[in-house]
Amino acid sequence: PASGPSYHPIDDACWKKGEKVPYMALAKTMEAIESITARLKIVEILANYFRSVIVLSPEDLLPSVYLCLNKLAPAYEGLELGIADQFLMKAIAQTTGRTLAQIKTDAKDTGDLGIVAERSKSNQRMMFQPTKLTVRAVYDKLKDIALMSGKESQSKKVDKVQAMFVACRQVEARFLIRSLAGKLRIGLAEQSVLQALGQACTMTPPAQSYPPEIINACKGMSTESFKSAVNDQALILKTTYCECPNYDKIIPVLLEGGIKSLPEHCHLTPGIPLQPMLAHPTKGVQEVLTRFDGLKFTCEWKYDGERAQIHMDENGKVSIYSRNQENNTSKYPDIISRLATRKCLGDNVKSFVLDSEAVAFDKEKQQILPFQILSTRKRKDANEDDIKVHVCVFMFDLLYFNGEPLVRKTLQERRKLLRENFKEVDEQFKFASSVDVTTMEEVQEYLEESVKGNCEGLMVKTLEEEATYEIAKRSRNWLKLKKDYLEGCGDTLDVVVIGGYLGRGKRTGTYGGFLLACYDSENEEYQSICKIGTGFSDESLTEHTEFLKKHVIPKSRPYYRYDTSHEPDHWFDAVQVWEIKCADLSLSPAHRAAIGIVDPEKGISLRFPRFLRIREDKSVENATSARQVADLYLNQDQIKNQASAKEVDE
Ligand code: ATP
Repeated sequence: PASGPSYHPIDDACWKKGEKVPYMALAKTMEAIESITARLKIVEILANYFRSVIVLSPEDLLPSVYLCLNKLAPAYEGLELGIADQFLMKAIAQTTGRTLAQIKTDAKDTGDLGIVAERSKSNQRMMFQPTKLTVRAVYDKLKDIALMSGKESQSKKVDKVQAMFVACRQVEARFLIRSLAGKLRIGLAEQSVLQALGQACTMTPPAQSYPPEIINACKGMSTESFKSAVNDQALILKTTYCECPNYDKIIPVLLEGGIKSLPEHCHLTPGIPLQPMLAHPTKGVQEVLTRFDGLKFTCEWKYDGERAQIHMDENGKVSIYSRNQENNTSKYPDIISRLATRKCLGDNVKSFVLDSEAVAFDKEKQQILPFQILSTRKRKDANEDDIKVHVCVFMFDLLYFNGEPLVRKTLQERRKLLRENFKEVDEQFKFASSVDVTTMEEVQEYLEESVKGNCEGLMVKTLEEEATYEIAKRSRNWLKLKKDYLEGCGDTLDVVVIGGYLGRGKRTGTYGGFLLACYDSENEEYQSICKIGTGFSDESLTEHTEFLKKHVIPKSRPYYRYDTSHEPDHWFDAVQVWEIKCADLSLSPAHRAAIGIVDPEKGISLRFPRFLRIREDKSVENATSARQVADLYLNQDQIKNQASAKEVDE
C-alpha cells in the first residue's frame, strides 16, 4: 500500500557508506524475519543486515542490536519500554485522524497494535513527507522515553511518540509501535542475534586488524569448514556475552578489534552480572554416584530461596543480581548495610563476586523458612525499616576476588578462598552446609538431614577434576538431588502458560485449566507439553485469570506448536513461567514437547501435572527446554529398562 507520493520501499531501505542507517532497513529485516520460522534462514537474514551495517555505518551496529532485541540497555539496568496499549492507541488515533473506537475494534480483531498502526498509516494520505527515521534516532528517542519520569513526563512522552509515529512509513509503524509496547513478537531470541552477529563478523570482519589469513581462508573454504568457522566465532561471542552481558562494552570492542579481541577486553567484572552455572537433575543417590565415580565431590544443602549474585567493586559499591541478571540491589538494603559493616569480610577483601542463596530466616526459632515467605518481600525499593522477612545469605561460591576472575579455578580452590576471606555472622551470612563424602549411605543420610533443615535437598558438585565454574551452563558437574525424588513424585519443570480453557461449574468466570509448553531453544518455539487443572486454590485461579486476561491474543503465535485437539479457548502471549510437578513423562501423539528428539512424530507429555508456583525469577526463554524434557523422559527407570532390554535382545 502506498504511503504518500514519494514512498519507495526499497529505496527507503537503502543507504550509502557513512550515512545513518534508515529505520526502514531494520524494519524490512524484521518483517522478513517475522514471515519465516526456519532458524537458519532467520540468522542469515539478520547476519546480512548486520554485515551491511558493519561495512557502511558501523556506529549504528549497537542501536541495531538493541532494537532487534527490543532492549535499550543491559537487562540489569532495568531500563524498559512497555507503554500501555491505551496510550499508544490514542497516539495512533490522533496522528492518523481515525477514531479511538475504530482503533480499539481493529486491535481486538488483530490482537496486534503494530499491524493496526501500519494499516492506519498506509490508508492515510500525506501532504508532504516527513524526514526519514533512522535507526539511531529511533533508538535514542525510545531511550529518552524510557528514561522520562515525573509529573510532566506523560505529556512529553505523548509528544515524542506522536512525532516519531508521524514520520513512520509503512512497515516502520508496525515495529515502532511494537517496540514502544515492549513486545516485538518476531520470535527472535538472543542466541540467534548472537549467532547472526558471529556470522556477520566472520563473513565481513569488522576490524582492520583482522588477520588477512583468516579472511583469505574464509574465501577459499568449503561450506563445512565455513560453517565451523562461523560457529567458532559465534561461540567466542556467546561465551563473552555470558561473562559480560553488556553490548555497550562488547560492540565497540568487536568493531575495533574483531571477535578475537573480545576475551581480552570483555570479561568478568564486578558490577556486571554473569549468567549463573546451573545443575542437572538426578533421580537418586545411585545416579549421582555413577556420574561421579572416581571423582572427588562435595554435597551442599540446596537452599530454597533466591539466588543472589553479590558484587562488590574496587570502590566498595555493592550490587545484587538475580538468577536472571536483574538488579535486585534495592530489594536487599539489609544485605547492603550488613556488608558495609564489613563484619563478614576479611581485612584483605577489596572486590568480589559471590554466588549465594538469600533465604528467609526465622531468627527466634533459628530456622530456615520456605521460599513462599521470601516471596512476600517487596521486590524493589525496599525500605530497611519496613522489612519484615529477615534473610540469611548462604554463600556457596566465589567467582571473582580482588581483581582476579576465579571461574577457571576448581571448586576446591574457590571454596578455600571463600572460606579464608569471608566470615560467618550469626543469622546474616553463612557458608552453605557441606560434607565431602563418598558412600551411598553418607549421601542419603545428608540428603535426609538437609530436608529436616528445611532445604530442598542437595547440590552435589565436583571438587577437583571437571570442577571449574561453567558460566551460563546447566552442567553435569553440578547435580541436584531434590527431596521430591525421595517421595517418588517426579521432577519439577518450569513451563510457559500459552493458553487457557474457560472454567465450568464451580470454576465459571475463571479459567479452569491451562495449556502449558516447554521452550525449544533450537527452533525457538514453544511446544505444548500438557493441560493442567490441578494444584490451584480458588483464589489463585482468580489471580491467574486476572493476570492472563491482560495477555490474551486472538490466535496462536506462529512459534507455538500444538495439536488442534488441544486448542484452548484463549491464547496467551508467552509471559509467565510456572513450576509444576508431575507423576511421570510419557510419549504423546497430542503434545509436541521435544518432538523429533526421542520420537520423530510424537512429543512428550506430563502425566498428572500439578501447579506449584509462579517462577518470577525465570524469563520464558529460561523455561525447561525441549532437550531437558527429553532427558527427563529418557532418565525414567521404566524407559531405561526398556532400552537395556532392547540392547540385550539385539
Ligand atoms: P530449580 O527449578 O530447582 O529451582 P533452577 O532451574 O532455578 O532450579 P537449578 O540449577 O536447577 O536452577 O538449581 C539451582 C538453584 O538452586 C540455583 O539457581 C540456586 O538459586 C539454588 N541453590 C540453593 N542452594 C544452592 C547451592 N548450595 N549451590 C548452588 N545453587 C544452590
